[in-house]
Amino acid sequence: MAKTVVFLGPPGAGKGTQSSLLTERMSFIQLSTGDMLRDAVRNQTPLGIKAKSYMDQGKLVPDELIIELIEEKLESLPDRNIIFDGFPRTIKQAEALDSLLERKGRALDAVILFKIDDEEVIRRLSGRRVCPGCGAVYHVVYNPPKVDETCDRCATKVAQRDDDKEEVIRNRIEVYHSQTWPLVDYYGHKVVVVDASLDKESVYNKISSVL
Ligand code: ADP
Ligand code: AMP
Repeated sequence: MAKTVVFLGPPGAGKGTQSSLLTERMSFIQLSTGDMLRDAVRNQTPLGIKAKSYMDQGKLVPDELIIELIEEKLESLPDRNIIFDGFPRTIKQAEALDSLLERKGRALDAVILFKIDDEEVIRRLSGRRVCPGCGAVYHVVYNPPKVDETCDRCATKVAQRDDDKEEVIRNRIEVYHSQTWPLVDYYGHKVVVVDASLDKESVYNKISSVL
């Protein structure tokens, strides 16, 4: 039976990094609403045009838009292991996910809570660099590209995300505490806490042992 997992945690906790490892090593599919929204913004779709100003300010994009996006995505979903990365982020989104999964005959197996303090989140987000070409994620100190500022995979120059600037980072952390943290109670016994402040292989070992 295919597994369904939610990655819950603040921005910068390493959810995307761990999703990539699980995709490579355990054949998971990653569904990141952040990545989908950035694609929509880049392609200037109606969703992207509506979402951009929320994202620029570090606010959550309205639930209706996110739920519609996920519903569309789940229409054509193969019977594979799935990680929801950065979704749900509100109780309303979590309720929508519950009914969607029920309709698809899938159960939620685990919610991995990435535990990390705000100071480390700020260090990770302010040093994050991404490859505009292939989406690879780096960090100026923890995981720099091998050749200065160019992607190891495709040699494109890496860049800082607009919302990884100091002022926006603070908003995103606040939004996490006020709007997303209540999901820990919502999911109750399904939550497995992982110490996300460890190095990425240690975090991976913990998550893969849970799954
Ligand atoms: P999220 O998807 O939760 O926003 P990312 O996976 O993009 O977080 O990671 C945020 C930043 O922290 C990136 O620059 C990434 O390279 C770095 N990072 C991720 N995991 C670790 C880790 N375990 N130790 C140190 N740095 C990490
Ligand atoms: P992320 O890449 O997950 O850090 O998301 C980047 C931005 O996209 C967030 O700051 C929000 O503006 C928006 N976003 C991503 N996922 C969601 C979601 N599930 N609900 C609302 N907004 C989201």
